[in-house]
Amino acid sequence: MSTVLCVLYDDPVDGYPPEYARDEIPRISSYPGGQTTPGPHAIDFVPGQLLGCVSGELGLRPFLEGMGHTFVVTSDKDGPDSTFERELTEAEVVISQPFWPAYLTAERIAKAENLQLVITAGIGSDHVNLQAAIERGLTVAEISYSNSISVSEHVVMMILALVRNYIPSYQWVVKGGWNIADCVSRSYDLEGMTVGTVGAGRIGLAVLRRLRAFDVPLRYTERHRLPDEVERELGLTFHESAAAMVPHCDVVTINVPLYPQTEHLFDEQLISTMKRGSYIVNTARGKICDKDTIARALQSGQLAGYAGDVWFPQPPPEEHPWRSMPHHGMTPHISGSSLAAQARYAAGTREILECWFENRPIRDEYLIVEAGRLAGSGAHSYSAGDATRGSEAAGR
Ligand code: NDP
Repeated sequence: MSTVLCVLYDDPVDGYPPEYARDEIPRISSYPGGQTTPGPHAIDFVPGQLLGCVSGELGLRPFLEGMGHTFVVTSDKDGPDSTFERELTEAEVVISQPFWPAYLTAERIAKAENLQLVITAGIGSDHVNLQAAIERGLTVAEISYSNSISVSEHVVMMILALVRNYIPSYQWVVKGGWNIADCVSRSYDLEGMTVGTVGAGRIGLAVLRRLRAFDVPLRYTERHRLPDEVERELGLTFHESAAAMVPHCDVVTINVPLYPQTEHLFDEQLISTMKRGSYIVNTARGKICDKDTIARALQSGQLAGYAGDVWFPQPPPEEHPWRSMPHHGMTPHISGSSLAAQARYAAGTREILECWFENRPIRDEYLIVEAGRLAGSGAHSYSAGDATRGSEAAGR
């Protein structure tokens, strides 16, 4: 029998919700491109309920305990005295969500002598030292597509929120004001602005499709260029690199995985080539941007706004500059953890566990690392290496 160690975010401060704002969530059976949504034999949760927090348990307890496995769920994930670090020595399977990542550094992987399977309940396995996972022969899998559309909706929302100055205007109302001039002195129309995405995979392409409706010029950069018919349909201009694209954009959205080549891609040099007053929306990974450069660029006016939901590390320490920099629209890491997304990635986690314990292959599109190499989606979108450096600051 195995120990399955699951790290989830804390329950709401007022406790696990007794009821929800809506009675149901839409049923979705496939994603754009035809990939089917997760299909486990069964689920033991009600779709639309909170599953990603400790009490939600991703709906896995009856299933795992029914098979005789030990299921440990905790939110205490950082530092050498954490429950996660203590339980890790026994665990055969570790599950965590990118929103509240259980950083699996090389040291922790070395300590986890029984570990065989690492599941990202969501998308983005950069909290795992993939190089160490490859060398140890671990299987790393994530629930690809489970929250890609959720994130793309969030990106469009954040672009509009920044450009139209929504958040400060909302705050004037909450403060009891009616300060129209204060609100509109930083408010623009998206109409006519050029928007570019770094990465046009599942999320990036979905963002482009949604923005097409705003009739704005669209640009993108990608490792593998999109088919001609997609470029024509969406009126896309392709660039070989982010460096070649960003000087032409008013708004840049970042939609690439974090791996050593994209770490700190948006540094002082790249941001200095952007138009003064550009906006960046980054829902990919915090570490793709240099945090101090972003804060300085907002202070100097080189950037007019920065929004996103991804930080490094997570949770960010109190002194993280993105909490206090001007003109930002940051939230905690939530865009891929809507109630609808949770239902999909909880079902996907169950599907992967069923495959694992029944000795059946895990879907190729869910695989990141297998048998000592990058595999499946991982082989396409990642490169080997380690992007976990600095994660110990999450313990502060
Ligand atoms: P995909 O793998 O579908 O798309 C990523 C795309 O980026 C791929 O098309 C890949 O190209 C491309 N790419 C990789 N490196 C580069 C590069 N250096 N320059 C240009 N393009 C590059 O992933 P998703 O769209 O589903 O997700 C993207 C990222 O978003 C995830 O890795 C994750 O970090 C983040 N994410 C955030 C969430 C949130 O809640 N905020 C939720 C889900 C994901 P190719 O495949 O051609 O090599």
